[in-house]
Amino acid sequence: MPFAFAPSPPPAAAIAGSATRFPVRRIFCIGRNYAEHAAEMGASVDRGNPVFFCKPADAIVVDGADVPYPQATKELHHEVEMVVALHSGGIDIAEADALTHVFGYAVGLDLTRRDLQAIAKAKGMPWDTAKAFDHSAPLSPIRPAAEIGHPRSAALTLAVNGQLRQQSDIAQMIFNVPEMLARLSRLFELKAGDLVFTGTPAGVGPLVRGDAVHAQLAGLTELRCRIA
Ligand code: MN
Repeated sequence: MPFAFAPSPPPAAAIAGSATRFPVRRIFCIGRNYAEHAAEMGASVDRGNPVFFCKPADAIVVDGADVPYPQATKELHHEVEMVVALHSGGIDIAEADALTHVFGYAVGLDLTRRDLQAIAKAKGMPWDTAKAFDHSAPLSPIRPAAEIGHPRSAALTLAVNGQLRQQSDIAQMIFNVPEMLARLSRLFELKAGDLVFTGTPAGVGPLVRGDAVHAQLAGLTELRCRIA
């Protein structure tokens, strides 16, 4: 059966050192996964109930591309995060098997309209307008686990116009990658092409037009973008 009109092309991420691309199916995100960031947001950490939310797959912005300053906000915030890319999935995945589903790792930005998030939190409303807007997920090239293995520790940093804003280590995550994938798969069937943004450390703050953003997962991959 033909489509009524041409479908949008599938969103795709770059794979480091490869001419092939990673087709993105869904973007899952975890919140409050670093204690110091939860504290700076005035939030408590509940190990029984991780905070999960989603972004649309076409929110991806590839490395080096401009990020348009979004509409409907006066407070765009950066959140630098390690991103896990899956080449397979399932439901009720065991922690011990979780890493077999990981294709690779990237660094990304969970861009947030913080003013809209504050309103949503105050009213007990969903976070979609704060988190799931267009161009809200800049993403570095993915480094395949086949090359780099599964990093347990790596410096995670974000600089704006050359000034360091966020600095931590993925070893500080409250829910580690196997735990996160196991818990997500109890809520959603994970599949090839899924990305998981793994939470941001302390130091989130505003971005303005013209800012040059540089995110790094030290020794593994990096992302550069400009707020246009
Ligand atoms: Mn985040």
